Amino acid sequence: MKTSLYLLAILSLAISAFAVEISEVAQGVYFRKGDLDRGQANGGFIIADEFVIAIEAPNDQAANELIAEVGARTSKPIRYLVVTHGHCDHDGGVGVFLQRGVTVICHETLHQQYVSQGKPGTFLGVTHELEFSQGGRLIKFIAVQGNAHSPTDLYSYLPAEGVVFTGDSAVNMPGTVYRVLDHLRGCRRSRD
Ligand SMILES: [Zn+2]
Repeated sequence: MKTSLYLLAILSLAISAFAVEISEVAQGVYFRKGDLDRGQANGGFIIADEFVIAIEAPNDQAANELIAEVGARTSKPIRYLVVTHGHCDHDGGVGVFLQRGVTVICHETLHQQYVSQGKPGTFLGVTHELEFSQGGRLIKFIAVQGNAHSPTDLYSYLPAEGVVFTGDSAVNMPGTVYRVLDHLRGCRRSRD
């Protein structure tokens, strides 16, 4: 009896160690808090009318976890993956989604990098802004011009919900103010 209790305790510790925090910030819009100890940056997913848009694939493990987390909430398929920028803790698991036939939405500069790497799959590269409407839900994908946090930043903005996924342009760590300033410069360049 004692042994099985210990086993249960160990198992629950193991499960909680890998549990990430997921919160619904607007109806059908989920924020997934990353786990930097496992190389996982923040991300999320959006449940649209007919399909799901996943955001970020930090590594293969995170991609598979995200697929399971979406599957626990809806039977709709993941049709698109948004990559906020081309750093490995955000796009290291892109291959998991590409193998499943998911289309990757990213900054056009990152799309070109994937092409030059010979990465097989379907991509939707955003040059400036792309409006995406499905089932009454509007998402604007905005490609930052020039360098903000990186040369390949793409924001996903949901005006009705007041939600924006920025990737690392706004993170809670040293340097954020400078990143936000860079972002504002990038936005100004985007507008020009
Ligand atoms: Zn980054």
